[in-house]
Amino acid sequence: MGGLATAWELSSGEWRKHIDSITVYQRGWRLGGKGASSRGRFGRIEEHGLHVLFGYYDATFRVLREVYGELDRALTDPECPIRSWRDAVSPADDVGLAEWKEPAWSHFVTRFSGNDAIPGEPGAEDRPIQPLDMASRALRLLLDFHQAVATRRPPAHVYVSGSPMPRSEASDSAATLVRGAGLTALAALLEVVERSARLATGLESGLAGSLASVLHGWRDGTRRVLLADPAARRTWQLVDLIVTNVQGMAADGLLSGTGYERIDHLDYRDWLTSHGAARETIDSPIVRGMYDLTFAYEDGDRARPRFAAGLGLQLAFRMLFDFKGSIFWRMQAGMGEVIFAPLYEALARRGVDFRFFRRLDRLRLTAGRTVSSIDLSRQVNLRRGQGRYEPLVRVNGLPCWPDRPLVDQLDTDPGDGLESHAKAAMGSGAERLVAGRDFDVAVLAVSLGMIPHVASELVAADTAWRDMVDSVATVATRSAQLWLDATESEMGWDGPRGVTLSGFGEVFDTWASMSHLLPMEAWPPAVAPRSIAYFCGAMPGVDPATGGEVVRDELRRFLEEEVGALWPGTRDSAGFRWEMLSDDLRRSGPDRLSGQYVKANLDPSDRYVQSLPGSGKHRIAAGRTGFDNLAVAGDWTACGLDAGCIEAATRSGVLAARAILSGSVRASTTSRGMW
Ligand SMILES: Cc1cc2nc3c(=O)[nH]c(=O)nc-3n(C[C@H](O)[C@H](O)[C@H](O)COP(=O)(O)OP(=O)(O)OC[C@H]3O[C@@H](n4cnc5c(N)ncnc54)[C@H](O)[C@@H]3O)c2cc1C
Repeated sequence: MGGLATAWELSSGEWRKHIDSITVYQRGWRLGGKGASSRGRFGRIEEHGLHVLFGYYDATFRVLREVYGELDRALTDPECPIRSWRDAVSPADDVGLAEWKEPAWSHFVTRFSGNDAIPGEPGAEDRPIQPLDMASRALRLLLDFHQAVATRRPPAHVYVSGSPMPRSEASDSAATLVRGAGLTALAALLEVVERSARLATGLESGLAGSLASVLHGWRDGTRRVLLADPAARRTWQLVDLIVTNVQGMAADGLLSGTGYERIDHLDYRDWLTSHGAARETIDSPIVRGMYDLTFAYEDGDRARPRFAAGLGLQLAFRMLFDFKGSIFWRMQAGMGEVIFAPLYEALARRGVDFRFFRRLDRLRLTAGRTVSSIDLSRQVNLRRGQGRYEPLVRVNGLPCWPDRPLVDQLDTDPGDGLESHAKAAMGSGAERLVAGRDFDVAVLAVSLGMIPHVASELVAADTAWRDMVDSVATVATRSAQLWLDATESEMGWDGPRGVTLSGFGEVFDTWASMSHLLPMEAWPPAVAPRSIAYFCGAMPGVDPATGGEVVRDELRRFLEEEVGALWPGTRDSAGFRWEMLSDDLRRSGPDRLSGQYVKANLDPSDRYVQSLPGSGKHRIAAGRTGFDNLAVAGDWTACGLDAGCIEAATRSGVLAARAILSGSVRASTTSRGMW
């Protein structure tokens, strides 16, 4: 995404007036990297892993809206089932969380009220977080939470007091629920926070002490009342989380909305603890869900949850209080065809050139601070007479990426391993791009895991690059997609349809109900599944040669032992009802797993980029690489949202383009084009 966002930004407007050419070099046959998806048997969607867009992804939505606007499929491709960005994504308000309480898992779903804002408005991506807005949205979130709690458990009454000492009748009542009066008190408190935030610049230190003590007392006062009741406990954990964040911001001088990096050396959970968050909150499904969604486990070890505090704080606020339209937006087809195929089509239409099957092997330096040449392997040649590779196929009228290269356009079948570093083959030839002859400026947009392999000269030449490679960590992930012969309610799921749920178990901690994709696939009626489920989670590194088998075994155990807590209808006295897995080959028992899509993302390029405490300061910024003619793009760069997500990759691409257009990254010799 980082590279494509750069190309998108560079090729906006009358770009040919100041740029000769823009060329995207891509290994393999498809775009998208960790967000790639393609179509397999029966046109089924096969993803790198589960992907959702958050409602605060303003840069991503802005690009998406521009891309669909320019393609104008309603006019140019009216048969296409996804014609506009509104067709491509739809708001999703339900967030599920799972909770372990001896002896079993339980779950609950919160519906976040949507709003009328539209993500991706011009300029929105450059606006910093406003604590003031955050605080007022916090109140809305609490109301939502109360509603969710109230519908699962008939309310008695709970009291949330603005006073440090709760009323005695409230203290006596263990099973109570937060009601209007308490919320009024809370609203008043938040008003104080808002006012304080407005004054924060000059009064920060005096304010911090008094605000912190009010919040502290208020929170502790409510705690005793709420913890006994499971529904109320969840409410209180959220209240505690929000209050601790605001209180911590006040205490650490962050109410102005800047300076989050000052606490980035701490783990978010440790930071919350240091500001008085209760143990239950630290271990709560909400906090756990945040770590799960960002694969924030060092080396994939569940015992080592680690996430930089300043970033955690920002993400919590952005995710919960800065969303436009909806907290989540779900793609209405595979990510490959919702984001990357349209981007490809629109970029190609603008005149951006694509060279598929080009593997980057090495960036070479001259003695100075300049990339002198770039070594590529050509993985396969085009068939004679084939002018350029046309990478897309249609499924139900939608332009999609196939799961293999389209060999009728090639002079030979390049086999597997085109996207694998471990299995990198010789290919059909080498190409060397020379600075000044073949390019002016290069944008390195591979993923972080590849940097030591393709940019070792830069790492050796520059301590900033070495520090980055040493400090910014990546983690392997596992993912599984299941097609099932039962609906979710037949499987015993008692929540709403289309939920994304996190915090569940140790292996596949996140589940997304994806049955809305069934009409986009192309199953013959006789074998058509009735629901789709995606699972994913972080995993420790294992030998890539056996990774797929490891994940398949884990999935089998997960289905046999764990999934029944979500889907009780999938179990009988013999264990998991394997016949519930759809399989057109009608295998029996666990062999039906062979018909599902399971992935171990272990390749250096596939590893998820983490945000461990203390690592953010070692990220390199898009336009400040230390090398004259080189920009970088990707979710591993310093882009103001230093997290492994599509939004960070898009922002980084925008920043790389701005750096080039402003001249801060520039040709060190006379001009030729872009890379
Ligand atoms: C399982 C999983 C689930 C995720 N879920 C979400 C989610 O729900 N929401 C979200 O926002 N983010 C999610 N992410 C993160 C998101 O996918 C990434 O942040 C994003 O894709 C990063 O984009 P990028 O451009 O920085 O890197 P990449 O996507 O890794 O792209 C790098 C590009 O470089 C290419 N490349 C690598 N090596 C070479 C080479 N030697 N030669 C030529 N080309 C090369 C790759 O093929 C790829 O095209 C998820 C990630 C994973 C792993």
